[in-house]
Amino acid sequence: MILVLLGAPGAGKGTQAGMLAAATGAAHVATGDLFRAEIAAGTPLGLAAKEFIDAGRLVPDEVTIGMIRARLAEPDAAGTVILDGFPRTVAQASALDEAFGASGRTISAVLLEVARADLEARITGRRVCASCGRSYHLVNKPPQRAGRCDACDSPLVTRSDDAPETVAARLANQLESLAAVADHYRTSGRLRVVDGSGRIDAVGGRLAAAAAEIGTGR
Ligand code: AMP
Repeated sequence: MILVLLGAPGAGKGTQAGMLAAATGAAHVATGDLFRAEIAAGTPLGLAAKEFIDAGRLVPDEVTIGMIRARLAEPDAAGTVILDGFPRTVAQASALDEAFGASGRTISAVLLEVARADLEARITGRRVCASCGRSYHLVNKPPQRAGRCDACDSPLVTRSDDAPETVAARLANQLESLAAVADHYRTSGRLRVVDGSGRIDAVGGRLAAAAAEIGTGR
């Protein structure tokens, strides 16, 4: 099955999808991470995506859909997949339905709901490892050693699209399309809403319960 984890920027999708994937053995597929890997590798796709990402805008659908189709065709995506950051538009959601509807794979969505005021604090406090991409938060999920990654000891940096001057634009751009995507799943009876506020482990417990009800891991 495919579990679509929906949420605004800063809602905790990456952290929670990573924890859920580790606990269930599902594959964690994050479009933001795929784009960042393409940018780091200097590919044409990465170069095209970078200008949108740095401006806090969505990468065009045709680029994003092509990239995710290729990723979902890889062997580790044959079982349960947790999709983090995709779909972000109704066109992307429809493309996902079309790609997997015929195969009989179920697609269910969980929306991590977080108040707007909390989103900004979560984004501006976020730091990521420059080397392995692991994500931290200055207050909510600090590294063991300040400024260094727990896993590989590389320096922690602020994501280019997390700069305070872009955060408001990014939220404004993305909240509207998030609502439309949530509606896409709600009207087809495939949406669950999970309270994404509070401690990481508390949110993780609520998400795991919702995922178990849907049948993640099967
Ligand atoms: P994320 O790491 O999920 O916050 O994604 C970082 C940025 O990558 C987003 O702000 C978008 O610019 C871009 N991005 C990620 N996923 C998508 C998507 N499904 N559609 C369009 N752009 C995306």
